[in-house]
Amino acid sequence: MTYDYDIGIIGGGPAGSTAASYLAKAGLSVAVFESELFPREHVGESLVPATTPVLLDIGVMDKIEAAGFPRKYGAAWTSANADGVDPLGFQVHDHGLGAADVLFNERDQLGVDRDYTFHVDRGEFDLILLKHAESLGAKVFCGVRVRDVDFADPRRPVLRVGLGGPTADVTVRMVVDASGRGTLLGRQLKVKVPDPVFNQYAVHSWFEGLDRQALANDENQAGYIFIHFLPLSDTWVWQIPITDTITSIGVVTQKARFKESKDDLEGFFWESVGSRPLLHDALKKAERVRPFKAEGDYSYGMRKVSGDAMVMIGDAARFVDPIFSSGVSVAMNSARLACADIIAAAAADDFSADRFETYVTKLRRGVSTWYEFISIYYRLNILFTAFVQDPRYRIDVLKLLQGDVYDDQEPAALTAMREFVTTVEENPDHLWHPLLGKMKVSLASKALF
Ligand SMILES: Cc1cc2nc3c(=O)[nH]c(=O)nc-3n(C[C@H](O)[C@H](O)[C@H](O)COP(=O)(O)OP(=O)(O)OC[C@H]3O[C@@H](n4cnc5c(N)ncnc54)[C@H](O)[C@@H]3O)c2cc1C
Repeated sequence: MTYDYDIGIIGGGPAGSTAASYLAKAGLSVAVFESELFPREHVGESLVPATTPVLLDIGVMDKIEAAGFPRKYGAAWTSANADGVDPLGFQVHDHGLGAADVLFNERDQLGVDRDYTFHVDRGEFDLILLKHAESLGAKVFCGVRVRDVDFADPRRPVLRVGLGGPTADVTVRMVVDASGRGTLLGRQLKVKVPDPVFNQYAVHSWFEGLDRQALANDENQAGYIFIHFLPLSDTWVWQIPITDTITSIGVVTQKARFKESKDDLEGFFWESVGSRPLLHDALKKAERVRPFKAEGDYSYGMRKVSGDAMVMIGDAARFVDPIFSSGVSVAMNSARLACADIIAAAAADDFSADRFETYVTKLRRGVSTWYEFISIYYRLNILFTAFVQDPRYRIDVLKLLQGDVYDDQEPAALTAMREFVTTVEENPDHLWHPLLGKMKVSLASKALF
């Protein structure tokens, strides 16, 4: 049988370009079809250290270092403090802020050889990754959209690609869907399911000249990601350094609250940050340098993420909530895990679904851990804060925050948090019972994937 390429990859974001690098390195012929012309803007700018082993593995780390992205040494959370008592359980500091923070160097992580990761301009970062894949031998077609995939003969899938008008057929031995939240195959195969619990919206932009220390605890935290809690239900703000002077700011909230703003992005943004006067004032003194952009309806799972001659990776497989900056790390690690199975399948010349079971099992384990951690965080905020500050659990929580979620063992902190939440839920007299959030994960939502 003849093929145009061994593997056809839909999408050239971090998942697609990482997969292309692994597969090209293994000597397979690979084509990446990316509908946009790169560089293109993209949300998701703060990495976690679990990206480091993958960047090293595919040999692109030197290029990432050379690009001079701001180094990210840790993460901090702040909340407004009323009457000297922090409603989220943070330690209250002199200047009236409740705050908690972690440094990545507090815990060694397998395969991670530096005590920082990066904040990135995704236009530049994604371009470096895609060009790197090309330098390893992958064929990259930008401005080319995959319309659908014909699986009538699973031994020879056909990608129908188009540039505006006419389409061309490309035959491959196997398809990797890395189309991000476009979820091409999830939609085509009708296996995509909206998450029943998480239904968030985000409004974000870049600001020049923001005083990043305005809400920091100490001056060494300028390079951290900040998550600022707003005194509004399930609503928070990210603060991510993009360059020395540019900062990405985004407000994340529930869909119902966003809908009230009737698509007035600017009004919604300023009204939300107005609930934290220090943050609001610092932002007003800075200059906005990009239009406000909204991202919505972004949490979903798939009833299946693999099949004969097909796997989904990155956001094309699953997306929950960006609170812990897990997206790019899941994209790159899912590419890593999937490629191990794809390379073995190619060697055996057998691309049937059961060849990808190891990938599916490991991805499910990692994503389920993230999902539960995020769910507990929204269900009982104060518990996350308490665990970060508790020496018994701090390092284990840090393991999650580093994105170290693919090994066999569930982090002990997660088990303890789950038990704690159940205790609080079952006891209406518990001091923390009134603090339970509205978002409650059901067995159905956990099994979604
Ligand atoms: C509000 C918000 C905040 C976030 N913050 C963070 C964060 O701080 N840190 C973090 O790590 N993650 C964050 N994320 C998640 C992050 O954006 C994603 O997880 C990450 O971009 C996934 O990479 P990917 O390669 O799977 O998909 P993408 O990066 O979306 O790449 C998919 C590519 O496929 C292309 N494509 C789509 N359809 C087709 C088609 N039919 N044919 C050809 N090409 C196609 C697209 O143009 C795109 O370039 C955030 C997400 C949201 C919504």
